[in-house]
Amino acid sequence: MAEQFDVVVIGAGPAGYHAAIRAAQLGLKTACIDAALGKDGKPALGGTCLRVGCVPSKALLDSSRQFWNMSHLFGDHGISFKDAKMDVEAMVGRKDKIVKQFTGGIAMLFKANKITPYYGYGQLQPGNIVKVKQHDGSEVELKGTNVVIAAGSDSIELPFAKFDNEYIVDNVGALDFTEVPKRLAVIGAGVIGLELGSVWKRLGAEVTILEALPDFLAAADAEVAKTAAKEFKKQGLDIRLGAKVSKTEIAGKGKKKEVIVSYTDSEGEKSLTVDKLLVAVGRKAATKGLLAEGTGVKVNERGQIEVDEHCHTGVDGVWAVGDCVRGPMLAHKGFEEGIAVAELIAGLPGHVNLDTVPWVIYTEPEIAWVGKTEQQLKAEGIPYKAGSFPFAAIARAVAMGEPAGFVKVLAHAETDRILGLHLVGVGVSELVHEGVITMEFNGSADDLARICHAHPTLSEAIHDAAMAVDKRAIHKAN
Ligand code: FAD
Ligand code: NAD
Repeated sequence: MAEQFDVVVIGAGPAGYHAAIRAAQLGLKTACIDAALGKDGKPALGGTCLRVGCVPSKALLDSSRQFWNMSHLFGDHGISFKDAKMDVEAMVGRKDKIVKQFTGGIAMLFKANKITPYYGYGQLQPGNIVKVKQHDGSEVELKGTNVVIAAGSDSIELPFAKFDNEYIVDNVGALDFTEVPKRLAVIGAGVIGLELGSVWKRLGAEVTILEALPDFLAAADAEVAKTAAKEFKKQGLDIRLGAKVSKTEIAGKGKKKEVIVSYTDSEGEKSLTVDKLLVAVGRKAATKGLLAEGTGVKVNERGQIEVDEHCHTGVDGVWAVGDCVRGPMLAHKGFEEGIAVAELIAGLPGHVNLDTVPWVIYTEPEIAWVGKTEQQLKAEGIPYKAGSFPFAAIARAVAMGEPAGFVKVLAHAETDRILGLHLVGVGVSELVHEGVITMEFNGSADDLARICHAHPTLSEAIHDAAMAVDKRAIHKAN
């Protein structure tokens, strides 16, 4: 007979573990199922984000940034040294330790909150039953008054560049190279391509990124994308736009194999020979095999589970959150949806505002935004005023030796309400939250301009950009 729970969560990634912990905090008897195994072959909770996504990528970005700064920034501070060397095994080992700390942390939080974990693959059956195929081969059935599907996403594979996990890899392989590839090609100049391309570039790889679209970072504000592209070029990242890959081939014998990547751009057919190829062309909802016949849960043509604005599937007691539903594929979006659904199940108000989900790309300079871009405002015919301010005029950024980039505030032309905040520069992953908070409180550019910001800090760029909306920035000509 199926064991009965108030809430059964499928998937212990950011969306699922937030749903499970919040449900348990609210006194609901909760189980959470996860199929993933860590590098050591043991169950590892935390999903893509903790195992092979946000956390490990940021660990490598930080290690590689330290190394890059030694040869590109330390000299300006009067610091010299002999022979900087990167021990890739030690760097990856450090990353693995951080991953283990955080995946183990979720297991501890489950224990502390009395959540029952199940390690294996869960499939939803009609009637809110979840059948779990556990790693030891046994099967259990769980019945949830509520079931929260948080199955996440998987990398998209290209038919002409199948992953072999050695020469042609996705994020999982690119986080675990055992040495710096001499030549690395990346298909896709999106978030993963730029972040992981930066890691290996900083460590000495020759990195070529092939992007199918003619525009760079089309989702970002065009000025931000332009500035970022200029900085990446200075760093030696070779980003080729309008490049359509048609074929890849692994050539050579024994240990010395190479990947030949054939593509076409505006100049015609080209090819590129590299040691490793990272394919980062987006992710797809991990819903294959998740739903048995007759559950009533609908899946759209992109494989995403159909939900309403409350993450409800339309089937009594069945909810879905995170990467496996519509909206940005971001850990913090999943966090909020998980919490909101648990609160709705407990009869509380639960709500996620997708319009104020911040985006961050952790390159150097960092890129971050919330709200609408200028291109979107123009396309939607929304009247707006813009104020921007460069980090080159911010004393703290210059003192840090990081003057690149700027902040741009977009406010409604009539109400002055903030419609978007766009940043490129040092530390903007933290600064973007000023925009998120102001937008959540329906604040205006004038509000931001009148709020005292400490001097000297990077946040002064937001203060001056907000003042620039009404042409009253102090530290630049308006
Ligand atoms: P997931 O994290 O994918 O978790 C789903 C879990 O469910 C997995 O553990 C999976 O094994 C399990 N599962 C799936 N189906 C079943 C089943 N049927 N039975 C049992 N278990 C199942 N986002 C950010 O916000 N910031 C970042 O810096 C960032 N960096 C990233 C870097 C990389 C390289 C990648 C790949 C992604 C990154 N992301 C980042 C995106 C982020 O990882 C995802 O948005 C987030 O993990 C989605 O959370 P989720 O809970 O919906 O799904
Ligand atoms: P992405 O959607 O960010 O970028 C994919 C890029 O590949 C796009 O620019 C697209 O035009 C291009 N592309 C698609 N098909 C192509 C082809 N055949 N040839 C060449 N280019 C092609 O996807 P991603 O980088 O794989 O990342 C997946 C998701 O993971 C992101 O959308 C994001 O939601 C999440 N993520 C977030 C972070 C972060 O928050 N910092 C970091 C990494 C990943």
